[in-house]
Amino acid sequence: MNSDLELKKIADAVSVCKKCQLHHSRKKGVPGEGPPDAEIMFIGEGPGFHENMQGRPFVGAAGELLVELLAGIGMKREDVFITNVVKCRPPSNRDPQPEELQACDSYLEKQIQIIHPKVIVTLGRFSMARFIHNAKISEIHGQAVRVKGMLVVPFFHPAAALHRPSLRTTVEEDFAKLPEMIKNAQEAPAYQPETQPEDDNNHAEQLSLF
Ligand code: URA
Ligand code: SF4
Repeated sequence: MNSDLELKKIADAVSVCKKCQLHHSRKKGVPGEGPPDAEIMFIGEGPGFHENMQGRPFVGAAGELLVELLAGIGMKREDVFITNVVKCRPPSNRDPQPEELQACDSYLEKQIQIIHPKVIVTLGRFSMARFIHNAKISEIHGQAVRVKGMLVVPFFHPAAALHRPSLRTTVEEDFAKLPEMIKNAQEAPAYQPETQPEDDNNHAEQLSLF
């Protein structure tokens, strides 16, 4: 099966999924979007109001800022794959619960396997925590780590920069590092999802390169 079809299959599954309670508040599932051969994958937290209405990720205020930040490094949203750790909107935008994150994770895992991005950018603490445990975003933002062969870079969530304008420069500086990271990233070896989450810290090594 080609990658387009495989991604479409995931999107179809998400639209009718009932694996966690978030399906109750779902208007449209938000599987994510972007080219199947994207070099960068952005992973946010979960759909908000507008995303739930449209079935597309990052189409509200945070999405506008994301598009601006991408433009700043000469990229368009169509160049990257954008998704979230949970594919259905948590009611009132509350934090996703551990059982929801767990239930939804297989969709993200499959997307990563299909797209095989050179660089994964996490937006927000829940997507950062999926790859890097016990980390503080204020300490490690913009620094690439290799997790199971993939280059993972935690960024502040664009919504954080909207709430705290003083973060804007920091966020722009982190984005400015992306082109170099993509250029230097080795083709990441196949993702190995069977590794236990507890082991993740052993696999996350700081790269002095970046
Ligand atoms: N914030 C997110 O984390 N994801 C979206 O899709 C939109 C806003
Ligand atoms: Fe299924 Fe994920 Fe939606 Fe939960 S959030 S119902 S696991 S698609």
